[in-house]
Amino acid sequence: MFSATVFRSIITKPIWSRGLFVSSVSTNGNKSSDSPLEYREITKDRSQIIPVETSIRYLKSAAYQQTYGVDPVWKLYRRNHKGSIPPRKTRKICIRGGVISTGNPCPICRDEYLVINEHNIGLLKQFICPHTGEILSYTKTGLCQHTHYKLVVAIKRAYNFGFLTFNVPFREYDYSDYCGEVTGK
Ligand SMILES: [Zn+2]
Repeated sequence: MFSATVFRSIITKPIWSRGLFVSSVSTNGNKSSDSPLEYREITKDRSQIIPVETSIRYLKSAAYQQTYGVDPVWKLYRRNHKGSIPPRKTRKICIRGGVISTGNPCPICRDEYLVINEHNIGLLKQFICPHTGEILSYTKTGLCQHTHYKLVVAIKRAYNFGFLTFNVPFREYDYSDYCGEVTGK
């Protein structure tokens, strides 16, 4: 289980710099209250690989609700750039050598429990436009180029596996164009 010690009032700070935040992950995935909890401080270290099952549980947890609410994870993220006009592309990569190498990592790189995987449907859906079904641009979401590429691959894999569905226009066919007159035989 995840402890709910994040407050929305401090979301303006980067997540890794919050002193108050202590995340906890159950080691065995058991939801009982007496399960042992592993407490980890928020650091810039990203060398530990978080399994996708942990990320899926995190998206349903109270800590996630308190951090992001019902908004997508990129909603409150703002890019840092010089001048008033942002650069055309976002930065290449946020994590170099297992360590966050920038002061303002992108919305997925800053939270180590957001794992991009084709099974993590709740996360992938936040990056798909609900009206057109297209993948949102990195200029809107602020993802770094490396993470955006991984996201596009994961979304296309999810479509191929059938985890994500998409609507196609319904077509009416006039079968007499193909079969001639329908005689009812
Ligand atoms: Zn990034």
